[in-house]
Amino acid sequence: MKKILIAFGGNALLRNGDDSTFESQLERATEAFERISDVILENNVIITHGNGPQVGNILLQNEFSQKVTKAMPLHACGAMSQGLIGEILAEAYDSVRLRKGIMKDASVILTRTVVDPDDKAFQNPSKPIGPYYDRMTAEGLMKTRNWQMKEEGNKGYRRLVPSPVPIDIVERSAIFNCLNDGFMPICTGGGGVPVIKSQRGFMGTDAVIDKDLASSLLARILEVDKFVILTDVKGVYRNYGTPEEELIPEIKVSELEKDLDSGIFPKGSMGPKVRAAIEFARASGKEAVIGSLDEAGKVIDGKSGTVIH
Ligand code: ADP
Ligand code: MG
Repeated sequence: MKKILIAFGGNALLRNGDDSTFESQLERATEAFERISDVILENNVIITHGNGPQVGNILLQNEFSQKVTKAMPLHACGAMSQGLIGEILAEAYDSVRLRKGIMKDASVILTRTVVDPDDKAFQNPSKPIGPYYDRMTAEGLMKTRNWQMKEEGNKGYRRLVPSPVPIDIVERSAIFNCLNDGFMPICTGGGGVPVIKSQRGFMGTDAVIDKDLASSLLARILEVDKFVILTDVKGVYRNYGTPEEELIPEIKVSELEKDLDSGIFPKGSMGPKVRAAIEFARASGKEAVIGSLDEAGKVIDGKSGTVIH
């Protein structure tokens, strides 16, 4: 039995062309668990996941219903998305496990991730989120809600929020104990609800945390044997998207670091996955692997995807 942390990408819930109904996300999630059911049967697995499209939709529901009910802050919307996705994943997993006779229960853990209020990301919000607004509304929101906003071509204005580095997981012991008691934790959704340590405990703050960086941190905290990032491409490519693109089957941390530093991986997609894998492999001496959800079994065995060691 190995301890394996598996981070689901966006395609575990939604694929191109899917509508974002509860039912279609449940169907995708069921497919995802079918692909890893043998791994769950034979190992101690922790599941983490993204929340981009889901929290985006919650923000829309919030912002456009203000006349009826008060909008919740972004961090609370993040918490809502963890609850929503947690339900989808738990339902999907239960249907698979009952069919396959897996005894292990899943347990969804609402997770808060600690960030540093002095993180320079707070001075330089860079992540666009939520709906597009016209100029007048955007100017109003900048004043009344103190939002930073940026024009995105002719689509309109969008709110920019900081994306600070995750430094600790508040529920670390809860997750650890849950795993040791034989459950499969589903946690750290969307990178966790960003919180800042204060004299009153932990306070939610409006930011977004990269789910791969938070998953890597959790993988180190739990001292897992393997950290697996499942996404919608076969692995990490050099010259991605060009006729010369080439999959990297395996690579040493020191070599991959050079590629990362040279800036060949985009900040919004492959960059944080590569960084997350490097941080785990360097700290633990164990392998991280980035690969396709469609080949999850092979990826987890290190027979597909990019193995970072
Ligand atoms: P997820 O939703 O699974 O977390 P993202 O959509 O953020 O994943 O990132 C995966 C995407 O990264 C791929 O669909 C691909 O288009 C993009 N990508 C950018 N650069 C690379 C690269 N060098 N190798 C592989 N994929 C890359
Ligand atoms: Mg994606």
